[in-house]
Amino acid sequence: MLELYPPYIVAYLIFLFAILGLVMGSALNCLALRLSSGKKWSGNSRSACPACGHTLSALDLIPLFSWLALGGKCRYCKAPVSARYPLTEAALAVIYVCLLLKFGLTAQLITPLIFASCLFTLSLVDLDTQIIPDRFIIIPIAVRAVELLLTGGIRGLFSGALPGLIIAGSVLILSLIMDKVLKKETMGGGDIKLLFVIGMFLSLPACMLMVMIACVVGIFMASVMMRVSPDTPFPFGPALSLAAVITMLCGDAVVGWYLGLF
Ligand SMILES: [Zn+2]
Repeated sequence: MLELYPPYIVAYLIFLFAILGLVMGSALNCLALRLSSGKKWSGNSRSACPACGHTLSALDLIPLFSWLALGGKCRYCKAPVSARYPLTEAALAVIYVCLLLKFGLTAQLITPLIFASCLFTLSLVDLDTQIIPDRFIIIPIAVRAVELLLTGGIRGLFSGALPGLIIAGSVLILSLIMDKVLKKETMGGGDIKLLFVIGMFLSLPACMLMVMIACVVGIFMASVMMRVSPDTPFPFGPALSLAAVITMLCGDAVVGWYLGLF
């Protein structure tokens, strides 16, 4: 989608979106940490080192670069700073740049950016608390519904929401059966709601591909988490979110290739 622009403009846009992703990644990671620890959305308290309590200056808060420049340690007390900060910031920067390359500098880029940012935040909260906050489901549903209404009217809204209803409904029925058989909850309500909103952003074949990718990612993540902290319950939200982003980026190409085989 960016072929229309000269290479130096493309390079500049990629740079801008990488910076935007780093800044948003830093802000949303802080928001996720606040929500996970039961604090409010907003607060005017300044960022401080959790180890020594020293207020952090602007120089200590530059996404990714501060952590790298300080060798992953607090400038004041030398306590190690979690690699979660640079990793999450870099991850959202990569996602923003990939979305720019996929959708180009168009109006169609806006909703995927908002959606990916919500998936990013809810995944971090889900990892910390095993709960997916409803607000990060409601925001992309509302944004996508407005987009579908503006581009296709009521009919567009219905056909856009249909894959979500089908995929969430079928997984809900399957999980209710599994609950009865295994006599324990197999899938949280938050995961079902997440499946619905993911379905609003994908076609039905892409939804099926997304579920397959989520299973592979989920098994990989679960095996890693079992080794790191065997007692922590495994949240499925991050696997679904990552699968949704991967499918949004290259799902159509894979589905097209697969259907072309017949
Ligand atoms: Zn410190």
